Amino acid sequence: MKILVAVKRVIDYNVQIRVKEDGTGIVTDNVKMSTNPPDDNAIEEAVKIKEAGKATEIVAVTIGEEKAQETVRKALAVGADRGIHVKVDGVVEPLAVAKILQKIVDKEKPDLVFMGKQAIDDDCNQTGQMLSALLNWPQATFASKIDIKDNKLEIIREIDEGLETIKVNVPAVVTCDLRLNEPRYASLPNIMKAKKKPIDQMTAADLGVDATPRVQQIKVEEPPKRKAGIKVSSVAELVQKLKNEAKVI
Ligand SMILES: Cc1cc2nc3c(=O)[nH]c(=O)nc-3n(C[C@H](O)[C@H](O)[C@H](O)COP(=O)(O)OP(=O)(O)OC[C@H]3O[C@@H](n4cnc5c(N)ncnc54)[C@H](O)[C@@H]3O)c2cc1C
Repeated sequence: MKILVAVKRVIDYNVQIRVKEDGTGIVTDNVKMSTNPPDDNAIEEAVKIKEAGKATEIVAVTIGEEKAQETVRKALAVGADRGIHVKVDGVVEPLAVAKILQKIVDKEKPDLVFMGKQAIDDDCNQTGQMLSALLNWPQATFASKIDIKDNKLEIIREIDEGLETIKVNVPAVVTCDLRLNEPRYASLPNIMKAKKKPIDQMTAADLGVDATPRVQQIKVEEPPKRKAGIKVSSVAELVQKLKNEAKVI
């Protein structure tokens, strides 16, 4: 079984996001970048499946500017076998990502595509779903447990009402939840070994995909500052304030 894993380079989740003074976007200069957190879970799961003898190859794919290659290198350092970097400068919208991944799937013919349930920068939660539609493959989103049985997947996924268990035929697209596993750290020897693993480079145009954005971002604003809270001395005072001041009860 061959697994393709999509990994996106995003601003590190520990960074306090700042909006540019002119409101045209967010500050990215000299800001720490990392792999999108659920993509770390996707790579970890692929590596675990390979370690269990159920996968033969893991290919990590990233789409983005030159430095996005770092994301593929990290995936290689934790166990992916080889990488693909599709170079696109500027914003790449979910539909363009899905179309590029579709072309890579056509070339690589994986049995599974693993990705994060959403990217923490644009929070779109669309790419996996779009890819499964373009490929006409079954999808399992928000996976928090994956079992492979007789070439079928049994997946537990989070839904608003609780946990749902579904069976999915392979090939399939699976988007991974943070609860799926605990991603491992790359050891120094493995980081060194990863430098020798191959990364194929290509552009969206090489794959025949027009990645021009279709959505125009007009303005980015900070959310309004929250007012400082107050301490109340009794339940009666709390009820009185909720009733008379906040007017919510
Ligand atoms: C574990 C978990 C945690 C979450 N946490 C948050 C959170 O912190 N904040 C947050 O904002 N959201 C959160 N969500 C998401 C949220 O609860 C809903 O799942 C989400 O808003 C549904 O939108 P969707 O885009 O997935 O689309 P869909 O489920 O496709 O629905 C989109 C819209 O389509 C329409 N629609 C869908 N089905 C029908 C139908 N049968 N008939 C008529 N209209 C229909 C409705 O207008 C619906 O709102 C969470 C979800 C999960 C599972």
